[in-house]
Amino acid sequence: MLKGIAASAGVAIAKVFKLETPVLHVTEERVEDVNAELARFNAALEKTLADIEGIKERAEKAGKLKPEELEIFDAHLMMANDPELKGQIETLIQDHDNAVHATDTVAKMMIQMFESMDNEYFKARAADIKDVTFRLRANLAGIEIPDLGLMKEDSIVVAEDLTPSDTAQLNSFAKGFVTEIGGRTSHSAIMARSLEIPAVVGTEGILKAAKAGDLIVLDALKGEVIVNPTEEEVALYQKKAADYIQYRNDLKVLKDAESITTDGHKVDIVGNIGTPKDADGVLANGGEGVGLYRTEFLYMNAQALPTEDEQFEAYKEVLEKMAPHPVVVRTLDIGGDKALPYLPLDPEMNPFLGYRAIRLCLDRKDIFRTQLRALLRASAYGKLRIMFPMIATLNEFRAGKQVYEEERAKLIAEGVKVADDIEVGMMVEIPASAVLADQFGKEADFFSIGTNDLIQYSMAADRGNQKVSYLYQPLNPSLLRLIKMAIDGAHKNGKWCGMCGEMAGDPISAPVLLGLGLDEFSMSATSILPARKMINSLSYAEMKEVAAKALEMSTMEEVKELVGKYLND
Ligand code: PEP
Ligand code: MG
Repeated sequence: MLKGIAASAGVAIAKVFKLETPVLHVTEERVEDVNAELARFNAALEKTLADIEGIKERAEKAGKLKPEELEIFDAHLMMANDPELKGQIETLIQDHDNAVHATDTVAKMMIQMFESMDNEYFKARAADIKDVTFRLRANLAGIEIPDLGLMKEDSIVVAEDLTPSDTAQLNSFAKGFVTEIGGRTSHSAIMARSLEIPAVVGTEGILKAAKAGDLIVLDALKGEVIVNPTEEEVALYQKKAADYIQYRNDLKVLKDAESITTDGHKVDIVGNIGTPKDADGVLANGGEGVGLYRTEFLYMNAQALPTEDEQFEAYKEVLEKMAPHPVVVRTLDIGGDKALPYLPLDPEMNPFLGYRAIRLCLDRKDIFRTQLRALLRASAYGKLRIMFPMIATLNEFRAGKQVYEEERAKLIAEGVKVADDIEVGMMVEIPASAVLADQFGKEADFFSIGTNDLIQYSMAADRGNQKVSYLYQPLNPSLLRLIKMAIDGAHKNGKWCGMCGEMAGDPISAPVLLGLGLDEFSMSATSILPARKMINSLSYAEMKEVAAKALEMSTMEEVKELVGKYLND
């Protein structure tokens, strides 16, 4: 048995289809005939574009991918057409570099740049560049890339890694896949979840252990892979697969149900989104609104600061899609690990503690005002809520609110229609604001607890640093006390309190959060139905007792043990 990371839930048993990526050799040979090499490069680039068009067409015909997933090919076409990429490679060729080496050099540089950004959007761009430039180098070398479309019987694909275009080519014979490398947020993992096929990634040793045609068990609930299982194991996992299908079907029944405890206490389960398209996933999974729209992706996807009209269109799209449900839009949270290539910031020793989010917006009011105007204009199209990120002091909240009021008054004076029931709230993600929540609650309309940052700041442990990741302890009683302060601070002032950090979608945390009185749980779309099932199986009265006990415990381990017995299997 091999261990990997469960990237897309499910259980499958089938024969191995091994996808071996050809090895492409890169040498530093100098070319004399620069023009001939440029022509060769351009021909390979043309073929690459045609290949991608072909794969896109096939995927469209197969009809399994959603329109937004097909967009990956547009992203690839755009990348292959990118004058920057082409120009840089051509410059190297003009310096007598050979086309394969030049492509490899430029690709490595761009991949490294995007990968080092420690941000999902840019990491995905790195995967796109890898995919496109690999195809380009294969075409330059005259080597065919193996075709998953050739699969003719039920199989589990085993590969070093799957590129996004590999994943899109998986046909109905593909019952799942296992990769040697990759993580939960890699592109192929995200696609597997939307194709709803089981996947285990980062399974070290799988390429050595599995041969084409071997029988293989994929337990993508636990992240385990068994090569050549015994008969008993096959029977065991067949049952597990059937049980899981039953579980998913049971969940679908909950799509239009309320999120309500056995003793009638109602909460809202809503989705986190990064783009307007993500709202579709929230609706498909029965989300009761959007609890966090991370607007920074709108800025990161652009070449320059998005204009008021561009932003207006994006916000309007989300509000219209979600109406009559509420949408909490977070104002720009840039800085820290999120950079804008066109807005250079001075290097800082501690970017997470530096010039970011509301701090930057209050300094660059031009940027802030444009966003607030776009939001206010969009408010006429649905139920808008606005929240400010990284609020540490009440004066920051007041300053943000004042700019909001000024822009609101200007728009009304201009005769623009603006909703009159917009709530303006704040994220509680800095311990100072949690501790003083009873005061903030007098002025903010709501809170949303950002546990990703709240935990890193209260534990003093960088959220991106693997070495200190053991300090990511959502269930540590110290954290629970901060969360309680935030919730109580809101309730004392007649306000509501939500949570949009990862903790909100973590099943193990649900009983305690419910018991602490959290009103709104905001999470990734696919977590919504399992969370509803869980909430609907719990008693609020009982969870209040559990939460009270947890607050008096001394370690995370004790709390975990306490809540463990309330978890669905
Ligand atoms: C958080 O900090 O918990 C949060 C939701 O914001 P982000 O992850 O975007 O920093
Ligand atoms: Mg945050």
